[in-house]
Amino acid sequence: MTNKVGIIGWPVAHSISPAMHNAAFAALGMNDWHYDAVPIPPDIVRQGLKTLKGEGGYVGVNVTIPHKQAVMPYVHPDERARAVGAVNTIDFRDDSGTNTDVPGFVGDLEAHGVALAGTRVIVLGAGGAARAAVYGLAQAGAQVVVVNRTRNRAQEMLANLALSAGINSAEVMTLDEAAEWGAGLIVNCTSVGMWPHVEESPWLTGISFPKGATVYDMVYRPEKTALLQEAEANGGRAIGGLGMLVRQGAKSFELWTGRAAPVDVMFAAARDALQER
Ligand code: NAP
Repeated sequence: MTNKVGIIGWPVAHSISPAMHNAAFAALGMNDWHYDAVPIPPDIVRQGLKTLKGEGGYVGVNVTIPHKQAVMPYVHPDERARAVGAVNTIDFRDDSGTNTDVPGFVGDLEAHGVALAGTRVIVLGAGGAARAAVYGLAQAGAQVVVVNRTRNRAQEMLANLALSAGINSAEVMTLDEAAEWGAGLIVNCTSVGMWPHVEESPWLTGISFPKGATVYDMVYRPEKTALLQEAEANGGRAIGGLGMLVRQGAKSFELWTGRAAPVDVMFAAARDALQER
């Protein structure tokens, strides 16, 4: 019998997660496991989950746009998922839901040797990815400032995080204020710079770029975004977001299978799959 896992989203055909997980199963000789992409329209997400768990016999699923918030009432979200307000991994064996974007992000920073405790961090963006980032950074002891095109949205995000996770230390700034704050790390959680708009950067022209700051760009296509190029031109380190994607997948893999994920294999498969796009 095959142990089925997969990813639900709408659309989801572009996902590189199947390539990444199936490469991991192959590398570990887990021939009785398979991962596929399951498109589910937004209006039938509840029924979709029921079918996958029931007749489908799925062990669990990853959840991507636009379902990460919508699935919350139908699972038991853990503390992290509740704090972030989004579930990206479901285990149907106990209907638990968690969010592996947070450990994927923090784990990738750690793997790159980026210190977080006491570090001043600018988070660009106020969507779902930014909320996961602010939560993970605050838990790791970083000082966080959020900059977002729509300032109200940043304020709302921090108010939500204060309520759901007791995070009160983060504040909202404008980009020019943040530029002078002495940040050691800048995290791009906006979609700006994503292929095909590769010449765009969330760091606006005319605002001086913090010298020597490390930049982590959650955008992973292209691998070296315009923002990452700016970081390097200003003497800083540049880290792309593919590692986060791989590490969140690795956490889900471990949860479902109970086996250590072959992160290097998953990384190579993810990079190959991206190049084929
Ligand atoms: P989202 O909820 O739609 O939020 C998008 C964010 O980008 C908002 O803050 C939005 O600002 C900002 N934005 C969009 N277009 C902009 C523009 N032209 N100028 C300035 N700001 C702009 O999306 P999300 O789920 O948080 O994802 C954000 C990015 O992170 C995506 O590129 C996604 O692929 C990436 N991501 C990567 C990983 C990974 O594993 N590497 C994981 C999660 C997400 P407003 O509030 O003003 O609209």
